[in-house]
Amino acid sequence: MEYAENILGTIGNTPLVKINKLTEGIDALVLAKYETFNPGNSVKDRMAVKMIEDAEAAGLLKPGGTIIEGTSGNTGMGLALAAIVKGYRMVCVMADKQSKEKIDILRAVGSEVVVCPTNVAPDDPQSYYSTSKRLAEETPNSWYVNQYDNLSNTKAHYESTGPEIWRQTDGKVTHFVVGVGTGGTISGVGKYLKEQNPNVKVWGVDTYGSVFKKYHETGEFDENEIYPYVTEGIGEDILPKNVDFSIIDGFTKVTDKDAAIYTQRLAKEEGMFLGNSAGAAIKGLLQLKEHFKKDDVVVILFHDHGSRYVGKMFNDDWMRKMGYIE
Ligand code: PMP
Repeated sequence: MEYAENILGTIGNTPLVKINKLTEGIDALVLAKYETFNPGNSVKDRMAVKMIEDAEAAGLLKPGGTIIEGTSGNTGMGLALAAIVKGYRMVCVMADKQSKEKIDILRAVGSEVVVCPTNVAPDDPQSYYSTSKRLAEETPNSWYVNQYDNLSNTKAHYESTGPEIWRQTDGKVTHFVVGVGTGGTISGVGKYLKEQNPNVKVWGVDTYGSVFKKYHETGEFDENEIYPYVTEGIGEDILPKNVDFSIIDGFTKVTDKDAAIYTQRLAKEEGMFLGNSAGAAIKGLLQLKEHFKKDDVVVILFHDHGSRYVGKMFNDDWMRKMGYIE
């Protein structure tokens, strides 16, 4: 018989899938690391379990404890699945710009969800950063995950996602392109790939309204770069410890409109029904096309599933209301 001991045993070993149409002007082979095959439908299952296991080993998370995290949904989903299997209580703190589907899905897997306003500064007591920290302080036997600064996040990708990509491409990968939020994916995968072959180039996809690109290019944390944006999952108004700028060769920024349109195009032209950050990532990859030569193998990572965006990027009324389509 062949079976997993529990649902967590199905995390990882996701397929690589060739992108065939959305590669205009690119001769290189473009392969998508397709993370929606994880049980929580996103790459975040990997780091959620790793962060919990490291916290258990360090004695920070004890039996019967409560896990508290500020999350846009996918990390919460991974943590919630692990909490069920391992017997913890789960509390997710979210910003109100996140799709309603994400909130409903977290509640469906037994998480308590606290919703906070989006457009307040990170140090505002109402922000989801501040609220998660306060709840963690007030709740006995609780552990605050802090995916931004918890380096088990990067380690998960260094130990699993990176080696899988190296193995699946027979060591032929030349470029890695990925959206950056906490930075765990790009830093862990990028570090692993560069250790195998220092010539691998690592590109981050950022959004307008986020500090990453300017900081990487100038070393300056420019508050003028920070303003509200629509794209979900990538970009930040802080510098998370998980972003290792030293392994990133460059960033490209994608507009909210392009990210939304390319999210639709992936579904309609490739049959890839994916989340908003996948649209941003493929548009970012197209913006970088002059960097790719004929025999290159470019791997792009797609973080999450389209079902969480049916009320937004996959809803033409919403797309029209936002002015993204006629
Ligand atoms: N896309 C989506 C949909 C996400 O949830 C996240 C995580 N915030 C990212 C991209 C960025 O990944 P990372 O946090 O590893 O940089």
